[in-house]
Amino acid sequence: MLQNQNLKMCSAPVLPLKPKQAANFNKKTSQMNKTKRIEILSRLRNENPHPTTELNYSSPFELLIAVILSAQATDVGVNKATSKLYAVANTPQAIYDLGLDGLKSYIKTIGLFNAKAENVMKTCYILINEHNSQVPESREALEALPGVGRKTANVVLNTAFGWPTIAVDTHIFRVSNRTKLAPGKNVDQVEQKLLKVVPKEFKVDVHHWLILHGRYTCIARKPRCGSCIIEDLCEFKDKTE
Ligand code: SF4
Repeated sequence: MLQNQNLKMCSAPVLPLKPKQAANFNKKTSQMNKTKRIEILSRLRNENPHPTTELNYSSPFELLIAVILSAQATDVGVNKATSKLYAVANTPQAIYDLGLDGLKSYIKTIGLFNAKAENVMKTCYILINEHNSQVPESREALEALPGVGRKTANVVLNTAFGWPTIAVDTHIFRVSNRTKLAPGKNVDQVEQKLLKVVPKEFKVDVHHWLILHGRYTCIARKPRCGSCIIEDLCEFKDKTE
């Protein structure tokens, strides 16, 4: 699996505060600020220095198709389908040659598979004819592909090409608002806020840290605050034990 091959880590990392230091500045300030944000991001980085997507892929094209298929579906479900699909077809031409019904037979376990299959076929056609069968490293070109919106383009630019883009999904939206790391009324506001307040050294990886934190710790129905490594810094009013 290709994992963050283009991602660059910071050369001068910000060291996390020791527990006593963190407790002290928490007493002094209850509002989210730059120091607390850096501490949150440092702890997430210490816990997982090389985060990546849980979608399986071995090329930008495989990642692009997996992300298109993952809308309103689980990564586990997408991985199950793509493991069989990519074994027989993992290039735009090969998937296009499967034909619409052929492609559907591989992805029929994924929600909205009919619409997604049509988008994938059209995307493959455009990649073959306009991009020499390569995934373009360009937001404009990516967003022109059927089934690719800003979020999907952000994931591909970040994960396949190492751009400091932040794709705000439901997990990032929830964690950013609960913690007050980057509150916003909608995903666009949260994305803009994160881009503004996250220091450069954390920008490439913050997307994956927040997704994983939301998926496994700050879960939607009952966050696991008792085992959360940023509990003392988070400003959520209804923390659990
Ligand atoms: S303390 Fe609770 S609400 Fe805050 S980030 Fe951790 S799990 Fe989420």
